[in-house]
Amino acid sequence: MRSSLLHILAAATLAGSAIGLGCAGSGDGADTADGSGTPDTADGSDASDIAGGDCVTPDGPGLVASYFLAGGLDGTIATVPCTLDDGTATTCYEITTVGAPADHQVGPFCPRTITATAADGGIWLANGEVYDIDGDFIKGLAEFYDDPVWQLYDATTGVVRVTLTQAACEAAARPDVDPDYNNYCVECSLDYVGGGIAETTLIPVNPVARTTPAELGAGIVGLAFNGVHFEAPAPVDAILAAHTIAAFDDCGGHVNTVVGYHYHAATGCSKEVAQCDGHAPLIGYARDGYGIYAMSASGGTEPTDLDACRGHSDAARGYHYHSASAGENMFIGCFMGRVVGTTTGPGPGDPGAGVASCDTVPAGMPCCGDGTCGGPETAANCAEDCP
Ligand SMILES: [Zn+2]
Ligand SMILES: [Zn+2]
Repeated sequence: MRSSLLHILAAATLAGSAIGLGCAGSGDGADTADGSGTPDTADGSDASDIAGGDCVTPDGPGLVASYFLAGGLDGTIATVPCTLDDGTATTCYEITTVGAPADHQVGPFCPRTITATAADGGIWLANGEVYDIDGDFIKGLAEFYDDPVWQLYDATTGVVRVTLTQAACEAAARPDVDPDYNNYCVECSLDYVGGGIAETTLIPVNPVARTTPAELGAGIVGLAFNGVHFEAPAPVDAILAAHTIAAFDDCGGHVNTVVGYHYHAATGCSKEVAQCDGHAPLIGYARDGYGIYAMSASGGTEPTDLDACRGHSDAARGYHYHSASAGENMFIGCFMGRVVGTTTGPGPGDPGAGVASCDTVPAGMPCCGDGTCGGPETAANCAEDCP
């Protein structure tokens, strides 16, 4: 699943999809036909509705390929045979993303001096809230975390200690953060991975419900319409333990050299598909094929009947998820549907990834303390508990 192919981004990737941010109806949906030759909804209205700049009338669960922005994809979305994690043979959409967002720029992440403004830096997620990483935030970290060891800047010059080279960003992003890079604001450039890491994801055409939810584990959580992956929560505890800040940009994404640019929070930057019935907009799909919608409709409140995975059902959409708020460092809590590939193991590539942390497991999910949390525990994913 996880391709390590470096994809050299053509300049056209961004230029070809210069659209407004977070704005339903702005997509060029017609460019990304799924190749199946059949309409994506029963009334075939989705693409034309999007092109018309309005809203869509949902028609049950299942991915609508035409919602994806061509600029985020390498080629078109095809349908291929696939096997789900319970052995079921079925059909999947094969979606290859280029590794860079089709509809917004990447960064900035770390401010360079303690006089920087919010526009010079990205965001940090803590206590369920979103904080601008400006100069004052950098200066205030010791107080913010009530820990005098924090010193992310040179007290004489006011220059912020930022990982400015590929070697530095990779050393700071090791599971055991290089001690030389404690007290750094960590950022990696997409240039280190050729402008983006292409990756192919298989998503079932017809989502298959599980009887018990599965942990998010390794691999992507889902896909935004601009081609960026939703990833499992960033391992913030491990990041903070090294007194580092793995800064996110204002869109909730950051770069590591294993998976490239990826999101940890839904901040409304990527393309949204408005729902004509006033439900929260669709922001992408989970790897199990169920839709991920914004936390709430504009001006609305979060649904009160969400399950541990942050899902619920309605007549128009069937089962679907609602993203957590950006400050929660997550999108959904677990998978309620079958996926292709494994759902176990930590996500790769971020600082501290792979270090045991059970803090982010949803209530009621098992956690064995070896860094592989939730879902069915087996000898393979939970060696300590399953001798
Ligand atoms: Zn809903
Ligand atoms: Zn990350």
